[in-house]
Amino acid sequence: MPAKAKRAMPETIRGTVVTQRRRCGKANCRCANEGPLHVSVVLSYSEHSRTRVVMLPPDEVEAVRAATERYRAAKKRLEEEANTGLAQLIARLGRAR
Ligand SMILES: [Zn+2]
Repeated sequence: MPAKAKRAMPETIRGTVVTQRRRCGKANCRCANEGPLHVSVVLSYSEHSRTRVVMLPPDEVEAVRAATERYRAAKKRLEEEANTGLAQLIARLGRAR
C-alpha cells in the first residue's frame, strides 16, 4: 500500500485547470533573468467573488481537468433543461390567457 493512497476523484469539480508561468521573486533565482519561469498547474476557482488557486500534484492534473469538464457539461445540460422548462411554462400560461 503506497503512503499516499489515491482518493477517488469527485464526479464534478467547479473551476478551471490552468498552467501558470511566473517568477518566484528571488533575486538569485534562474527565473530572475533569462532562465525559464516556474511552471505550476493549478485549479483556479472563484469563491466569494475572489479568484483563488490551488496547486495540483502532477499526477492528479488530468483527473481534476476531467472532473471540471464533467461539471461544465452537467451545468450546460441543466441550463438547457431549465430553459426548456421555462419555455413550456410560458407556452402553457400563455395559452391559458
Ligand atoms: Zn524563481
